[in-house]
Amino acid sequence: MKCPACEHEETRVLDSRLSEHDNTVRRRRECGNCDFRFSTREETEILNLSIVKRDGSNEAYSREKLASGLTRALEKRPITTQEFRTLVAGIERDIYVLNKSEIKASQIGDIVMQHLKKLDKVAYIRFASVYREFKDVHTFYEEINKLVGKKSKKSKKHKSYAKHTNKRKKSNTAKRAGKAAKKVR
Ligand SMILES: [Zn+2]
Repeated sequence: MKCPACEHEETRVLDSRLSEHDNTVRRRRECGNCDFRFSTREETEILNLSIVKRDGSNEAYSREKLASGLTRALEKRPITTQEFRTLVAGIERDIYVLNKSEIKASQIGDIVMQHLKKLDKVAYIRFASVYREFKDVHTFYEEINKLVGKKSKKSKKHKSYAKHTNKRKKSNTAKRAGKAAKKVR
């Protein structure tokens, strides 16, 4: 690593730190010539992965392309830079563990959807509408219903639980009322 100040070839690594959020390594370095201290960041890269597109053509994997697709889906959503980096790293990890030199674009799309679904439902719907090419409003609603459907089931459970406890409360007060009535007699 060349010193950025004097271009001396020898720099010393003072310490290195691995960030677990985004799989980057930061190294603090010192120049052996002018004592300038600076730090470098190393990013992991998925090498030699090619994407098979829908039309059958191949394309080298690019983090920039993935990131720009995600940026579009997450536009104006409350996501921090750190969360975004973690998202990209998580998607890349899931691609990496497949251990393939060639992967279908649709497979990457599925991985992205899984991650977005957990992170931000709005971004998920946006991404799905582009990626799955929703043909009409109907498919769009179907997808939203799938998301919302799960939630309403949960709240129904909640309601029935509430009803149940209410009933118990009522029967308890009824019993107490009965006892009280007996005492009076
Ligand atoms: Zn230097």
